[in-house]
Amino acid sequence: MSAAVLIVAAGRGKRAGSVLPKQYTLLAGETVLSRSVGAFASHPAISQLLVVIHPDDMGQYEAAVAKSQARLRPPAFGGATRQDSVRAGLQALKRDAPQLVLIHDAARPFVTSDLIDRVIAALASNSGAIAALPVADTLKQVGAGGIVRGTVNRAGLWRAQTPQGFDFTAILDAHEAAFAAGRTGFSDDAAVAEWAGIDVVLVAGSERNLKLTTEADLEMAERLLAAPAPLPAAALRTGLGLDVHRFAAGDHVWLCGVRIPHSARLEGHSDSDVALHALTDAILGAIGDGDIGEHFPPGDPRWRDAPSRLFLADACRRVTARGGRIANVDITILCEAPRIGPHRAAMRAEIASILDIQPEQVGVKATTTEGLGFTGRGEGIAALATAAIELPQRGAGVLPTSA
Ligand code: MG
Repeated sequence: MSAAVLIVAAGRGKRAGSVLPKQYTLLAGETVLSRSVGAFASHPAISQLLVVIHPDDMGQYEAAVAKSQARLRPPAFGGATRQDSVRAGLQALKRDAPQLVLIHDAARPFVTSDLIDRVIAALASNSGAIAALPVADTLKQVGAGGIVRGTVNRAGLWRAQTPQGFDFTAILDAHEAAFAAGRTGFSDDAAVAEWAGIDVVLVAGSERNLKLTTEADLEMAERLLAAPAPLPAAALRTGLGLDVHRFAAGDHVWLCGVRIPHSARLEGHSDSDVALHALTDAILGAIGDGDIGEHFPPGDPRWRDAPSRLFLADACRRVTARGGRIANVDITILCEAPRIGPHRAAMRAEIASILDIQPEQVGVKATTTEGLGFTGRGEGIAALATAAIELPQRGAGVLPTSA
């Protein structure tokens, strides 16, 4: 099924300190109206879009919809009230004779494709369907002086959102009949439909489908857009790595990608950076992708004296290839010497740079073993590491979701 969309953008409400109506406010570089139009313009079931605007806003309107021209009808001019504006828009859509129409407030730019789908699907068997959410807060009746007079039973109470979808002819007739009868003051189209005797059903709305009305709403919308997009249904994985290398004659060791002068070197095939080896295994463990020896066999001449950052960078690439991201890594180095503290900041910065994360996401610690065991006797260095990784979950697309 396809539907036409009517977006109501004729309001005059302005943001504090702005000369433009709120629907032309920029949110992270794009106007509220452009975001609302874009949400429908990119939906495959939308056959045509028409925006109702104020005649004074033609310039702003054209700038806002410049990138959504396809399927966009010339705008209609709104009237004194929302009800007048919707009626004007429906009359302008008459020439397209759509079977269904979704009516949407421009001030809800975060409408999602899922929500549009739900409204259209409900119209297959109903003449009216609106997005709505149950009332979660307790409702108070307040009298003079701000004194609470009573508590309203919220059972059966819902908050209506848009889009609100209807059989096109039914809602056009309802609006025209309301106008002819002098009925004004309906605050949404479902109210006009109810007055006309059209059954309206509810579909699940979305908390994210905010209506941007107050300054605080606009600020919240800006924060929402500034936040990094959450991974869809990410699963947190952890991995553990452990490595040991013995000392041999030499004058420096590599630890966490940093060259440290020392009275011995660590023996091994690569640069023997025991800490980066443990960390590489922790990351590979978290994504269930073998271990360092499997990907970089010790007998392979290509890895002779290789810098271990290559191994770590490869593990990081395997995380990225799965759509994952590293939440944090943590390393403990076990040795009597060299001292790690003076190099800690450089080590964290080096690992952060290899993994393309922030130093705050990297822990580097060291401990002696009180003179006990092989590390206590100064025979070598051991390192332990953990990694926490967010991975998108397989099949997340079929999980039920309210957003
Ligand atoms: Mg090793």
